[in-house]
Amino acid sequence: MRRAVITGGAGFIGSHLCRALVGRGWDVVAVDNLMTGRRSNLDDLLPDGRVEFLEHDVSRGVPVDGPVDAVLHFASPASPPDYLEHPLATLDVGSNGTRHALDLAKAHAARFILASTSEVYGDPLEHPQAESYWGNVNPIGPRSVYDESKRFAESLTFAYRRVYDMNVGVVRIFNTYGPGLRPGDGRVVSNFLVQALDGKPLTVYGDGSQTRSFCYVDDEVRGILALLESDHAGPVNIGNPDEFTVKELADTVLDVTGSSSEIVYEPLPTDDPVRRRPDITRARELLGWSPAVSLREGLARTSAWYQQERERG
Ligand code: NAD
Ligand code: UDP
Repeated sequence: MRRAVITGGAGFIGSHLCRALVGRGWDVVAVDNLMTGRRSNLDDLLPDGRVEFLEHDVSRGVPVDGPVDAVLHFASPASPPDYLEHPLATLDVGSNGTRHALDLAKAHAARFILASTSEVYGDPLEHPQAESYWGNVNPIGPRSVYDESKRFAESLTFAYRRVYDMNVGVVRIFNTYGPGLRPGDGRVVSNFLVQALDGKPLTVYGDGSQTRSFCYVDDEVRGILALLESDHAGPVNIGNPDEFTVKELADTVLDVTGSSSEIVYEPLPTDDPVRRRPDITRARELLGWSPAVSLREGLARTSAWYQQERERG
């Protein structure tokens, strides 16, 4: 039996990771302060005891007893409205939180996985983005609380690797969506789906020509677990290289949901990246990973989940 600690385990990706790890025979401790996560994300997992929930702020420590074979550090606000509302807590969890999670892994000689992000590339001047690209981040803009905190977390992880010879892996996650993404999360896929299902206008920021590459959560989790179960340090991009403009996403959401909502245009947030698409050569070659779920299929599954949630009240 192997035992993993997942910080941010009650969040969107964290709770999917808990489920997938249990499916692969792991026991899991989910540590989360519920800042943006929900305990109910783990409702199906807590009763049989394979997942233990610890409500705690990991910026203050990760007080887990017992054996630990892996630490997956996923705690951090991730949606722009969330990290803009909690700038200092975001910097804190990327710095002190990462340090505490690394210390736990070090104490147990456990494998450590850091959830990093495509945001380390900022508003990229190279396209698509390979891991060799160093990024273009405004270090003092509002988004920097997230971008720089993740860049610092990567730096700290690699410093621990060099100083303590730790077994670490860094995954750079690109825009991931799917069931479990809370309706009020504020990211574009949940906003558009909920707006379409409510018959409300879809809010496109800017002129909608900026691009993103959206990865379905099952694909993302499969990639993260492939990295966990390897001994590669990375960083490794895990994302779907199919690139869409935000306007194309809005049109696809309307089509998939059959909604007749209109599209309205609102101001573009400061430093909103213009283009984003992962180069996944490294993930293919090192991990044998590539995504399988198309945007249209993933949106249909996510839309069905929002409808079910509504019926359940
Ligand atoms: P999420 O907001 O659903 O999950 C984050 C979780 O971390 C929440 O449960 C929250 O309560 C918890 N958390 C935040 N600060 C904490 C603290 N100090 N102590 C304990 N728990 C804390 O977001 P998500 O999309 O599931 O993101 C999970 C991770 O993946 C984050 O690290 C994020 O930066 C990274 N990531 C996500 C995406 C994406 O597209 N979803 C893209 C890039 C990176
Ligand atoms: N966006 C939008 N409408 C929304 C929410 C977001 O047009 O209701 C845009 C946002 O400006 C960005 C893209 O969609 O260009 C992706 O935003 P998200 O917050 O999902 O993630 P980001 O990649 O910016 O972190």
